[in-house]
Amino acid sequence: MDANQYIDEIIQDVLTKYPWQKEFNQAALEVLESMRLVIERYPKYAEHRILERLIVPDRVVVFRVPWQDDHGGYQVNRGFRVQFSNALGPYKGGLRLHPTVNLSVLKFLGFEQIFKNSLTGLALGGAKGGSDFDPKGKSDDEVMRFCQAFMNELFHYIGPDTDVPAGDIGVGVREIGYLLGQYKMLTRIYAGGVLTGKSIHWGGSLIRTEATGYGLVYFVDEMLRIRDDEIREKQVLVSGSGNVAQYAIDKVNHFGGIPISCSDSSGTVIDLDGIRGEKFDFLLDLKNVRRGRIAEYAERFRTATFYPGKRPWGLAPAKIALPCATQNELDLDDATALVENGCMCVAEGANMPTTPEAVAYLQGHGVLFGPGKASNAGGVATSGLEMSQNSLRLSWTREEVDEKLRGIMRSIHKRCRDAAEEFGTPDNYVNGANIAGFLRVAKAMDDQGLV
Ligand code: NDP
Repeated sequence: MDANQYIDEIIQDVLTKYPWQKEFNQAALEVLESMRLVIERYPKYAEHRILERLIVPDRVVVFRVPWQDDHGGYQVNRGFRVQFSNALGPYKGGLRLHPTVNLSVLKFLGFEQIFKNSLTGLALGGAKGGSDFDPKGKSDDEVMRFCQAFMNELFHYIGPDTDVPAGDIGVGVREIGYLLGQYKMLTRIYAGGVLTGKSIHWGGSLIRTEATGYGLVYFVDEMLRIRDDEIREKQVLVSGSGNVAQYAIDKVNHFGGIPISCSDSSGTVIDLDGIRGEKFDFLLDLKNVRRGRIAEYAERFRTATFYPGKRPWGLAPAKIALPCATQNELDLDDATALVENGCMCVAEGANMPTTPEAVAYLQGHGVLFGPGKASNAGGVATSGLEMSQNSLRLSWTREEVDEKLRGIMRSIHKRCRDAAEEFGTPDNYVNGANIAGFLRVAKAMDDQGLV
């Protein structure tokens, strides 16, 4: 078996079959490149066609979501659920509401989720879903009617032991509440464990809201600590100003670092004085309560400047960069600017925010690079903890959940590092995450036979 030739053939097949699914192809190719090392050592996974089976989802559900706006107008969106793999446990992965949502984006996210969930060590399969509905500018009532219409179809395919969706871009505690309410009405069952990211007042887990951002910074802390370095007093560029960005900023402050930026789709705010204290509280209120635009931060605080239409990466020097907004938001030019400005660590809070050329450039210039499927896995790991608490019908304290989250991020970091080293590419967290994530899923698939 020539491992390289075998992988080349699969890559060719993916590119020919789905030429229009650019995001999915990007995610699949990254994993397949790392698999060259694995197939050489485990040719039986090629004989048993594990990779060919893994790149095709178990199933994809596409449906119509009809809902009524506040003026009585009829609206229609597309709804999706991609159930990728349940080799390790029930399908698990978030729901995204954003106008850019399409099958390619959700297949890439669902595929990544398989490896991410495997890395957590928990019994979770991989999935993703959502809709091209744009929540921006919609009233609470419109969001509620949309969520109810979305659940009218989705409820057929999910359940606490089948498929457990959570939040993602555009889906937070408000949307999860409306979705669970409708699920309850349709099934007449109070199955709290069917969705995670619930309000802490009725079945949610403490720290779930903070988990992805906190977990990301715990991962960075591990990357630096084993190299006798630390976050303290380092300037940190963060993109986005949603759930992940907010709590990454919060945790950077806890570690004594200086978060100097945040952004949204209209531009970037740079605040060299650090986003902390009263300014951090303002950010939370602006984005979570008033649902306003990030420029308001710079209007309110004199220490800050707003750069319309810009991304953070070239705007100020920083040792650490945390892309926390969306896919492909950090490209080769951005990577070059980061390196020129002395950046030594990039860790992904968002899913696949760094383009392949940018990843190669950063790694080639000695920048530590934490791929999202490892560094942002704290969210789904805490969703796993929420599911456990729902099953046990009890609630762990904030400290208990935070302690478990930190332990899980440490284990994920170690799994990635050990696998990277074992397969001859030390310090390459991309290979480490792909290989460690894959090996656990591949073993399960092999044990479960040809299905
Ligand atoms: P939110 O909806 O809370 O925030 C998203 C942020 O990213 C907003 O600031 C938004 O700005 C910005 N953004 C979204 N799309 C674009 C775009 N096309 N161009 C520029 N900016 C954009 O989402 P989350 O914080 O939950 O998710 C952010 C990322 O983290 C996503 O990649 C998600 O998949 C990933 N992730 C999330 C997890 C979670 O637990 N929530 C878990 C693991 C990963 P604007 O409001 O202007 O659109």
